[in-house]
This record gives sequence, C-alpha cells and structure tokens, in this order.
Amino acid sequence: MSKYSVLIIEDEKNIQLFMGKILKRHDYRVICADTGTQGLELIRSQCPDIILLDLGLPDMDGDNIIREVRTWSSIPIIVISARTAEREKVLSLDLGADDYITKPFGTSELLARIRASLRHSNRLRTDSELYIRPYKHDGMTLDFSRRRLKVNGEEIHLTPIEYKIVAYLAQNSGKVITYDTILSSVWGPYADGDNKILRVNMANIRRKIEDDPAQPKYIFTEVGVGYRMAEDEEE
Ligand code: CA
Repeated sequence: MSKYSVLIIEDEKNIQLFMGKILKRHDYRVICADTGTQGLELIRSQCPDIILLDLGLPDMDGDNIIREVRTWSSIPIIVISARTAEREKVLSLDLGADDYITKPFGTSELLARIRASLRHSNRLRTDSELYIRPYKHDGMTLDFSRRRLKVNGEEIHLTPIEYKIVAYLAQNSGKVITYDTILSSVWGPYADGDNKILRVNMANIRRKIEDDPAQPKYIFTEVGVGYRMAEDEEE
C-alpha cells in the first residue's frame, strides 16, 4: 500500500492547513513547505508524486520553481493562485505546469484536479500508444483504437481535424489545455498562433456533440487560456 505523496508549497498557513486536511482525509501523504527554497529542497529529498504550488511565495516567484523542476523532472505541478489573470495562467502552463486552480476553490475541484494530473502522469509512464482504454463521460464514449465517437449510443461523424482535437482533449481529460498546445498538437509545428481556426472547429464540434452548445457538458472553455474536457469516468 503506497499512498500518493503531495507537496504543498504555500506560505498562507490557513490555505496550507485546509488543503492538507482534505488531502489526508482522502488518503494522500502530505508534505508542506512555506517558502520556495524549502519547497525545492523537499522536491529533491522527498520526490513527491505531485506538487501544489502557490505562485506568490515570500522568497521567490512560483514560476521559478516550475522552471527549475522542469529542467530535471516531469512530476505533475498544479499551480494554486489567487491571481486570476489569464496571462499568468498561460505562462505557468507554458513553463510546464500541468494545471492550475484559482483561489477560492472547493474540495471536489481540488481533488478532481489532482486525480486528473496523477492519472495523466501515470498514463504517460505505463500506457503504450497501442492501447488506451476508451474515454467515457456522461453518455459519451470515445474509442481511440477505432476512432469512433458516440454520444448516447449515436455515432458522431467528425472531420479528421475535429477528431484530433477531441481525441487530444480526451487523452488529457480533466486538465486545461492551452490554445497553443492544441494548435501545435493538431496542426503540427507549422500552426500559426491564430486561435480562430481552433474556435471555428470547436464551434462545429460542439454543435455535433453538445445538447446545448452554449452550455457545454463535455468540453468547457477556460476563457483566455484554452479548453478542458470533462474528466474521464473511472471504471
Ligand atoms: Ca502566497
């Protein structure tokens, strides 16, 4: 029995305690750091399974920690921040953070983000490209091996580009994916930085898969940042 260990790097004691309590109750091992320096030491000595990182630390900016850790480790990092500026979220994600969560947040949101990031990092380590089990959520099934998408039993016909977008988001379900990341994964290195083509495709996808495209239940917009697909239902 080995529990997942979570390192919380956060200088606000009440938030650190709040998160620690929730995580212990859900069977995670919790390690805490109040400063960036202490956080970096614990990352090296304890090798946690996931890092929850506050961006505004007393001794350094959290982004420096992401930069430093990404030079040697792909351990999942979820940025926890009071900052709501989209630009900062995009910067953290582009530096290599896996996701972010904005204060104030609820228990279920925190746990869902952690599960999605851990599952994604496990999948990178263990799954071969050949077999990935189907994505399932609330009546939607995406069978990657057959490239078949069904919603409530009905097959949905997607264009090849639309399929690539949906499949990429489904493989990363529960995590926010920036516009740039989707553009380069679908259109390749020659993608221009223009989101318009992505927005047009997304509108078409939503028309095909959502009951009400204005109130999506499968693919959500993270304004100014990217898209997030609803978390895969675990078996
Ligand atoms: Ca802080």
